[in-house]
Amino acid sequence: MIYKTDAVVLRKNKISEADVILTLFTRKLGKIRAVAKGGRKPKASLSPASHIFVFGEFVLVKGKELDRISSADIHESFYSIREDLSKLAYASYFAELCDTVTVEGVTNNRLFDTFLKALSLITHVEDNFELIKLAFQLKLLDYSGFRPELTKCIECNGKKFKKIRFNIEQGGIICDNCFNKSKGNVILIDLTMVKIMRYILKTDIITISKIKLNPLTINRLSYIIDKYILFHLQRKSFKSLEFLNTIKKI
Ligand SMILES: [Zn+2]
Repeated sequence: MIYKTDAVVLRKNKISEADVILTLFTRKLGKIRAVAKGGRKPKASLSPASHIFVFGEFVLVKGKELDRISSADIHESFYSIREDLSKLAYASYFAELCDTVTVEGVTNNRLFDTFLKALSLITHVEDNFELIKLAFQLKLLDYSGFRPELTKCIECNGKKFKKIRFNIEQGGIICDNCFNKSKGNVILIDLTMVKIMRYILKTDIITISKIKLNPLTINRLSYIIDKYILFHLQRKSFKSLEFLNTIKKI
């Protein structure tokens, strides 16, 4: 059986001198792993499509174990991301996050569209990368069932707060009373931080990328959301995030 779908390459794994397996985030079928024959040979027809971030229409042939890519019509190669170390680091982290939350055969079109917009932003903008990262993280959490609770206490549903704290393990804000009884990693935040996260969750990522926020506030939120993601996606680390954090220090 032959089928066609729009897809973005999330990952490429070498399987021989000539061939690669591409992990594709497809619009129609969620995540798919498929063989690209000749993907490592510069002159092969599949070579231009066999790179991370390439967005195109892929034609695939069903296989017993793995499907095989028969052709690809590239819509956007996002070539310039791969030429800039900092852009590469951000986009690689977004791809690794997508690879972590997507499931074979299960579509996630809100995430698919947001990922494409994020790649486009990373390509075209020259600043505000940290806010784009935070926005992508929160939207990915929302679209994959891990949206943090930001409107009421995660424990008692109460809405009265003297101080606002965020409980990473429980997954949201916690009130003064419940905080005393709660376990886990609790971080003091403020109403502005809560409002920024709520705004991000209901606003398109392109619009978010145009606003300017205090870098210190973004850093504090990033610290929390990086930890939140590791805990809820059950990961000890993300290679690409470590790479990104190394790049930032240079
Ligand atoms: Zn409470």
